[in-house]
Amino acid sequence: MSVIQAPRGTFDVLPADMARRAVLEAHAERILGAAGYARIETPTFEATELFARGVGQATDIVQKEMYTFDDGGGRSLTLRPEGTAPVCRAYMEHGMHKLGQPVKLWYLSSFYRAEAPQRGRYRQFWQVGAEAIGSAGPDTDAELIVLLADLLLAMAVREVRLRLSSLGTPETRAEYRRELAEYLHAHEDGLSPEVVARIDLNPMRAFDAGDRTTRETMRGAPTLLDRLADEDAEHFARVRELLDGAGIGYELDPTLVRGLDYYARTVFEFTSDALGAQSGVGGGGRYDGLIEQLGGKPTPASGWAAGVERILLSASEQPIAPDVVDLFVAVAKPDADVAAFALANEARGAGMSAQMELAGRSLKGQLKHADRIRARYVAIIGDTMDVSLKDMESGAQTEVHSTAVIPTILRGSRLA
Ligand code: AMP
Repeated sequence: MSVIQAPRGTFDVLPADMARRAVLEAHAERILGAAGYARIETPTFEATELFARGVGQATDIVQKEMYTFDDGGGRSLTLRPEGTAPVCRAYMEHGMHKLGQPVKLWYLSSFYRAEAPQRGRYRQFWQVGAEAIGSAGPDTDAELIVLLADLLLAMAVREVRLRLSSLGTPETRAEYRRELAEYLHAHEDGLSPEVVARIDLNPMRAFDAGDRTTRETMRGAPTLLDRLADEDAEHFARVRELLDGAGIGYELDPTLVRGLDYYARTVFEFTSDALGAQSGVGGGGRYDGLIEQLGGKPTPASGWAAGVERILLSASEQPIAPDVVDLFVAVAKPDADVAAFALANEARGAGMSAQMELAGRSLKGQLKHADRIRARYVAIIGDTMDVSLKDMESGAQTEVHSTAVIPTILRGSRLA
C-alpha cells in the first residue's frame, strides 16, 4: 500500500517549528494586548454567503480559491479564506456595537485558499490579524499600522518596507477610474498591447506594467491620491502625521489597491525584500462599508492581517531557549517503575517539568537519554527507599530519601 502524504500545499507544524510560532504568538499577545486588543477565534467554516458578500464576488478568492462544500443538509459552507468577514459577523451576532467603541479584536488562526502552492504560499496557512471596529478616526489606522510594525520588529523581520496610500471613497474612485481610462486611451501609442487591451477592464493594472514605454507613459498619469476629496485628504494627512510622529518610515504608493468597494481611505502593505516573489508580509486598511454590506448598520472599521509563515520565513533566526526538564526519573530495576511513576507525577504536581523512562532502556541508556533531553537532575530508583539523585551539570551524585528528592531540587542547591 502506498503511504499517504499531507495534501498538496499543506504542511505539518513539527515540534521543532512550534517554538518559533510560540514566540510569534507571545509577541502578538503582548503587543496587541497592551493596546487593548482582545483575542477572538471564529469557526473554521462559515456560510459561503459571508465570503461571497464580505470578500467580494468578483475577487480571485471567491471566484476560484474557496474550499466550498455542501454540509449534507443543502447548506453551502466554506473553509474561511480570511478573517475580517468572520470577525465582523461575530461583532454583529454578539451585539458588540453596544460595547464601548471601537471594539478591538485580534486573532491567530488558520486560513484556506486553493492557490498554486509555492514558497510562502500555501493552501492552509496562518494569519495573525487585528481589527478595530467602530472608529472612523485616522488615529485608529495609525495605531494599527504601528502595532504591525512593532510585531514585525519584535520578530526581527528583515528588509521591511511599508507602502501606504488612501483610496478615498468609492465615488472618488469611480470618478478617478474614468479619468485614468481617458488618459490611457489618449496615450495608447505609449502603452503595451496588453495594457491597452485591459484599459476598460482594469485601468489601475497599467501601473504594474513592467515595460519601459508603459512605465514612461504612466509617469504622467493622474493618481488617485491627487484626486481625494478634502475630508479624505485631511484624514490621510493625519494618518501620515501620526506615523511620522511615531518614527515609522513609509513610501507613498498611489497604485496600492484593495479591489472592493467597501474599502475606503487608508490602505497599506508591509513587504520584505528577503522573501522573493511572495514578498507580502501583511497588509490592511479601512473597510468602512463592510459591515453594512453584511447586513449591519453602517460601522466604520479598520484592520490588517499578516501571514505567519511569511513572517517566519523573513525573520532572522533568533536563538530559542531549549525547554528545560527539571527531572528525569530513571529506573535501575524493572519493578521500580511504580515508584518512578509516582515520583514524576509528584514532581509535576510541585510545578516542575518531569519525565520518566518509558522505553525500557538500560540504566546507561537512560542516563544518555536524560542528557539528550537536557534534564537538570536524574533520580535513579532502585529497590530501597533511597534514591540516587544525580546533578547532570556537576555530575555529582548523592543518596537521598525518596521524600527528599523534590525539596532538594526545589532548593536548587547544586549537589557536591
Ligand atoms: P490577504 O488576506 O490576502 O491580504 O493576505 C494577508 C497576508 O497573508 C499576506 O501578506 C501574506 O503574508 C499572507 N498570505 C495570504 N495568502 C497566503 C497563502 N496562500 N499562503 C501563505 N500566506 C498567505
